[in-house]
Amino acid sequence: MTEIFTASFTQQDPIPEAGIHAAEAVLRSGRLHRYNVAPGEPGEVALLEQEFAALVGAKYCLAVASGGAAIGYGLRAVGVQPGDTVLTNAFTLAPVPGAIAALGAKPAFVDVTPDLVIDLDHLEQQIAATGARVVLLSLMRGHIGDMAALMRICDAAGVQVIEDCAHTMGADWAGRPSGRWGAVGCYSTQTYKHINSGEGGLLVSDDPDLMARAILLSGSYMLYDKHLAAPDPSVFEQVRYQMPNISGRMDHLRAAVLRPQLPLLAARCAGWRARYAVLEDGLRGCNGLRLILRPPEEGFVPSSFQFDLPGWSGAAVRRLVGACAARGVELKWFGAPNPVGFTSRYDHWRYADTPELPQTDGILAGLIDLRLPLTFSLDDCALLARIIRAEVAQAMTDA
Ligand SMILES: *Cc1c(COP(=O)(O)O)cnc(C)c1O
Repeated sequence: MTEIFTASFTQQDPIPEAGIHAAEAVLRSGRLHRYNVAPGEPGEVALLEQEFAALVGAKYCLAVASGGAAIGYGLRAVGVQPGDTVLTNAFTLAPVPGAIAALGAKPAFVDVTPDLVIDLDHLEQQIAATGARVVLLSLMRGHIGDMAALMRICDAAGVQVIEDCAHTMGADWAGRPSGRWGAVGCYSTQTYKHINSGEGGLLVSDDPDLMARAILLSGSYMLYDKHLAAPDPSVFEQVRYQMPNISGRMDHLRAAVLRPQLPLLAARCAGWRARYAVLEDGLRGCNGLRLILRPPEEGFVPSSFQFDLPGWSGAAVRRLVGACAARGVELKWFGAPNPVGFTSRYDHWRYADTPELPQTDGILAGLIDLRLPLTFSLDDCALLARIIRAEVAQAMTDA
């Protein structure tokens, strides 16, 4: 019997009832703008910022309109200027180089390793070759890598690190939360990430000057004293005439939806790890398929799953993707010559004018990605593994 997978790869959990009630209360109040609060009312956005800061152990937090916006404010707040080079991962998603390009800076890419983390040797070379002062580290698909070693390299070179934690909310390296290693951590609350407000972003830092700049940039006007996870108003005095208002605030409606999800994050992370483990176990030892190493220091939050098809031709990968799709299993291929859906590769971002990166090309050539929404049961994950395993075995026989 040919097993077929029928669950949806894009179906998320519903918003918790508490979030629906809180959203209703915001709607009934008519006060949706973050600075529109009744006397003595902190407002949902300021409370979200306070609660998220506490969750990751940051001094300051700012909620904004999207993850991409958070990265943009982070880049500007650390001082990136038009024409500057910013280093980032060659394996990432389009909003990452896009945030660099949006401020007139130039992305320069750093190779990815077979474990899907930034290549630290190439990072060192690229710092020396480009003179970049900022690394936008994309923790793509939740693969974290040796953060202590990365910070040693960047600190020694005087390079600031902005962490793109769109795939690592709730994750850690050696016990220290992702987003708490560099100068700024940026998170997304877009539907396909870890907490869901449709669109939204969060930015955390311990640096008061940096955070004052970010808050002004996000469109605070002179209302920053309404924040609960912001530096003292005196810190803003230095910069309040310097920062352009690049409007991208979060509103109370989204914050109301998000706040009740924060206490659920740890259980959600455990849920993803359980699903990942079933899939990993089901694919272990599968001839022709390489699993991605997860180091013991990595407290990972696998809301997606990757594997490698080493040495496969493009035609063979395409046949596998088609055979799995016919059985209801949506695989995304990062090696495709043209961008498809949300997958694209560094050489598709032609505005960036990038030399070829053979190491990264070799890794992306066989890299397969699938989403792992929490609406999949453990049985669903076991079925996914059986189908992929069977189709890989079939492809190996055909080859
Ligand atoms: C989603 C995503 C972003 C941007 O987040 P948005 O909220 O969609 O703007 C940034 N980096 C990565 C790796 C992402 O997947």
